[in-house]
Amino acid sequence: MSGLSDDLLQALREVVGEAGLITDAERMQSYLSDWRGAYRGQAAAVLRPASTEEVAAVVRLCAQAGVALVPQGGNTGLCGGSIPDDSGAQIVLSLTRMKRIRAVDVGNETITVEAGVILQQLQEAAAEVGRLFPLSLGAEGSCTVGGNLATNAGGTAVLRYGNMRDLALGLEVVMPDGRIWDGLRGLRKDNTGYDLKHLFIGSEGTLGIITAAVLKLFPAVRSLTTAWVALPSPQAAVELIGQMRSLCGDRLTGFELMSRQSVEFVLRHVTGVSDPFADAHPWYVLIELSDTQPNAPLNELLEQGLGTAFEQGVALDAVVAASDAQVRALWALREGISEAQNHEGPSLKHDISVPVSRIPDFIARTDAALQQAFPGVRIVAYGHVGDGNLHYNISKPIGAEDAAFKAQAEAIMHVIYDQTLHYAGSISAEHGLGQSKRLAAQHYKAPLELELMARVKQVLDPAGLMNPGKLL
Ligand code: FAD
Repeated sequence: MSGLSDDLLQALREVVGEAGLITDAERMQSYLSDWRGAYRGQAAAVLRPASTEEVAAVVRLCAQAGVALVPQGGNTGLCGGSIPDDSGAQIVLSLTRMKRIRAVDVGNETITVEAGVILQQLQEAAAEVGRLFPLSLGAEGSCTVGGNLATNAGGTAVLRYGNMRDLALGLEVVMPDGRIWDGLRGLRKDNTGYDLKHLFIGSEGTLGIITAAVLKLFPAVRSLTTAWVALPSPQAAVELIGQMRSLCGDRLTGFELMSRQSVEFVLRHVTGVSDPFADAHPWYVLIELSDTQPNAPLNELLEQGLGTAFEQGVALDAVVAASDAQVRALWALREGISEAQNHEGPSLKHDISVPVSRIPDFIARTDAALQQAFPGVRIVAYGHVGDGNLHYNISKPIGAEDAAFKAQAEAIMHVIYDQTLHYAGSISAEHGLGQSKRLAAQHYKAPLELELMARVKQVLDPAGLMNPGKLL
């Protein structure tokens, strides 16, 4: 039984139809927990509107009734942002039926899509007109454009193309009172005051419901080369990325750093992968160069860059992928880390960023502080080094009890976040705050920033019905 009044339920049914309303407990289940089962909530109903007008009508009805809404896309977020609380009084508003590609304007290099379009479908639509939509991440087969915007998703190509914030030109948003803001402008220049779209990008559903977006397209990639390079230290990675950037400019599209511990976990637990080198090395980077020209001289550039790196002792060994299969095999070593770590017991995940130049010091100091306070913890550090973004994850010491390790989670988090703050970093580089980092943000963000955020929330959503209990 839904906790909503019969009148409200009937009014919502009239808006979204039977196909858009779920109140059956069993059918609601997949909307009430995240894919890892880390967060679970209850809801009065799940609504699946099929158009912006339907979203607006739903939001109006819920605003009048004082019912809170939890926007949800592909439900792949990592911070519990799309999961309702356990009161059973909130409604999950799933955007997954809004999946139209509204327009492709090749002349303007833009595509206009609805919030429920799956990222992979957006990439395919861009490819059909010979263009690239560059956002790429592990969940691209299930995450949606609305969720990507609401979390300002990053991924593996931020180095060259930026975050979702950099890829969006315009938004359509249903405001908390049900009015529709049509900001679907495909303009690269528009200096007519505050750039309102940026309030909604990264707001994790707390300021309004994103229903559509105008996004940038880029020339398709026609040449690609990928290398796996062994390094002595994170400092070498920072030096190498600087050299490769000077040499290759925008052709440098990927630069992923991995510790030996991360790679060892993948080699141990992921089938079909192998170590490209006979010897173990302390650190690795995966380098990707790409170009819009077919047969661009990328291998030559790579060889030139690596040649210098070997002479200076910055690189220890390297392999360059000779086929598409080898490219996939190298990426599998990088993309398998998160899954592999799950096989080693509970893992504590920290998605931090610091200025690129501070990465080596951050790793050295944080490793030392952790080993002193929690001897034997296994540090699984990897990430998008060009963005200063490290997934600084921790696995329990060999032989330790799960429960004893989990009891240390908060203390471990504080060691890591204290160091992050020391190096002028962020405690959430790309996954958002959601439920999991909301309280930590209260501690680690500047009081004035928190006050300004709360004031913006108060102005746009005075009744607090947009995704309450998340972010703020
Ligand atoms: P959901 O999980 O459904 O929602 C996420 C948040 O956005 C919630 O707060 C929700 O309320 C809000 N929201 C959703 N839709 C809307 C809307 N239309 N309007 C307003 N608010 C909305 N992230 C990265 O940045 N980089 C990565 O490399 C990366 N890799 C990942 C790899 C894997 C395997 C997985 C599972 C996740 C990864 N993520 C990564 C997390 C990433 O945030 C999500 O995959 C994605 O961006 C969220 O999209 P979604 O549609 O699943 O949103």
